Amino acid sequence: MYADVPTLMATILLASLTMAAVMVVVGWGMRREGLQLWAGGLAVHAAGYLFLALRGQMDQTLSILAGNALTSLALALLLAAVGRFYGAHHRWLALMAPPALLLVGLSLLLENYSARVILSGTLYAAQAGAVAVALYRRRNETVGRGARLVTAGMAVEALLMALRAAGAGAQGADRLLQTGALQTLTFFGTFIVLLVTSLGFIFMTKERADEANRLLAAADPLTGAANRRAIIEALDRDIGRAIRTREPLALMMIDIDHFKRVNDIHGHLAGDAVLRSLVSLIRQRIRTQDIVGRYGGEEFLVVLPDTSLAGVQRLAQDLCNAAAAHATSYSGQRITVTISIGVFGGRLEPGDSWDLLIHAADRALYRAKDAGRNRVETTPVLPRAGTASPHPETFPATLQ
Ligand code: GH3
Ligand code: MG
Ligand code: MG
Repeated sequence: MYADVPTLMATILLASLTMAAVMVVVGWGMRREGLQLWAGGLAVHAAGYLFLALRGQMDQTLSILAGNALTSLALALLLAAVGRFYGAHHRWLALMAPPALLLVGLSLLLENYSARVILSGTLYAAQAGAVAVALYRRRNETVGRGARLVTAGMAVEALLMALRAAGAGAQGADRLLQTGALQTLTFFGTFIVLLVTSLGFIFMTKERADEANRLLAAADPLTGAANRRAIIEALDRDIGRAIRTREPLALMMIDIDHFKRVNDIHGHLAGDAVLRSLVSLIRQRIRTQDIVGRYGGEEFLVVLPDTSLAGVQRLAQDLCNAAAAHATSYSGQRITVTISIGVFGGRLEPGDSWDLLIHAADRALYRAKDAGRNRVETTPVLPRAGTASPHPETFPATLQ
């Protein structure tokens, strides 16, 4: 069964216009996401298909040149939309090269339909492939699954267009509006790709906005560290994992010494600057899987998965020394503070909960304050109710 080509073309035209309208509505006010460029690409695509579909009812040369150049321009705009999504600067000259090349090439090949299909198919394949490659390269910095739809769709389109070019090269092509296997495959495929990639691109922008909101809701606005809820959630999650994997888990509770004096002497804004610079000092010393969060006013928690007691003690002492040596500059003043750190580190058992670990680190912090501040103290054993277990880390996991 081969579908009627003009009908397929009209369907693609309408689908392009519909998706463009959907994107304009969805993307209103989201200028920098690339949705408008994608919608523009779809509108241009629809215009291109109008010229192609009117073959026989309008000047043939105009249908060939305008139809193909606009289709190529549409693909260039889709690539530009992906670039805009990632904040890249457009290289318009490079983007406009394929449509320009196609225009020149087709004007020279007006009498040879097969050669025109080979040329346009090859260029479209390269352009669709370029969109897929651009997305694939950024796959690690992309949240969600929308980008996968767009990548897969564009890869399929590149394949279809390459097949069309190869088919025309191997056996000559059907006339554009004639019904045939190659035509049916190309246009059905393009129709599906158009829907899948456009929806995928909408998902991409939506997923990124959701992620930004999620991060914003989880962050402490002053320091950018995780907020209290987020750090407790992270601790809870990592405790669950540590119990499953039998890996040790470490926790630091950090409190700035005599912080009230900083506010009293230098003012609250200077105090805020000290809080921010402490967080960046911590961040410079922890690994990517470690999380720092603001537990209270000038108290911070650092969760360190897969970290031994000795490891966390070393890190805490290093941090303590670094904080004492560091001065925060705030409107001409140099403010120095020291910190006290309570640490817990060890293996966990089923039933251990986040409040137990915080309690352990807090007790150690209290002892550090009591012993004169600017120091690290440790609670090696969790204060579990009714237990007096030895230091859990000294036993191999299999013997526990
Ligand atoms: P200690 O060595 O015993 O910890 O003494 P401290 O003065 O640091 O402890 P205390 O808990 O008595 O005081 C904490 C101060 O932190 C009081 C509060 O005004 C200040 N603080 C809490 N949140 C903020 C903040 O967001 N910005 C500023 N500038 N100060 C804050
Ligand atoms: Mg304090
Ligand atoms: Mg405090």
